[in-house]
Amino acid sequence: ELEIHLIPVVLGARDFDRPSSRPDRTMPNVDLIELVLGDITEQDVDVIVNAANSSLLGGGGVDGAIHRKGGPEILAECRKLRAGHYGGGLKTGQAVATTAGRLRARWVVHTVGPVWPSTEDRSHLLADCYRNSMHVAAGLEARSIAFPAISTGVYRWPVESAAEIALTAITQTTKEMPGIVVVRMVLFDQRTYDVFQSAAR
Ligand code: ADP
Repeated sequence: ELEIHLIPVVLGARDFDRPSSRPDRTMPNVDLIELVLGDITEQDVDVIVNAANSSLLGGGGVDGAIHRKGGPEILAECRKLRAGHYGGGLKTGQAVATTAGRLRARWVVHTVGPVWPSTEDRSHLLADCYRNSMHVAAGLEARSIAFPAISTGVYRWPVESAAEIALTAITQTTKEMPGIVVVRMVLFDQRTYDVFQSAAR
């Protein structure tokens, strides 16, 4: 059963003092980042984000689950991307879309998180994953997007740090994306969920 916790996010000043003022298209209309304990493959949203690897040809964790449930169509599109513009693979922080195959979502946006640890600070690359995925989603005219906790599995990024980076990047990016009205973090285990909840507070 899904446990849903809504975190109010303040996205810039709204002019409540002027009764005549109405929100315009340039104003953000994401009021909430949803934190959900659950499985990203089950989400009924326009876009689910895959914590992929640079090969785009599948892996474990979220990646494995998405390809298993979504069916071969997703991998077929990933292979086409590799044969075309992404011959060298997808770089860390970049994002690209494919079909979602048999999943309830309409698209999968694949992004590659940075591996922990690293000799240099790669936080900006983790933030890029969220930003670029949302830009790709906006380009598809998606209204809803669900993210896993990118890099916190096989790539070993500490969840406390990942949560702060994720929520900050999402909050900043929603300001530029009036069309996206639902942003959901889908956390796979209780500890990760709890850490995201504290970070949101
Ligand atoms: P990365 O290689 O970027 O670390 P992983 O897929 O290994 O990606 O893990 C990222 C996060 O996704 C981890 O917190 C992991 O527990 C979680 N996860 C694994 N399977 C699912 C799933 N089906 N839905 C949502 N989150 C998942």
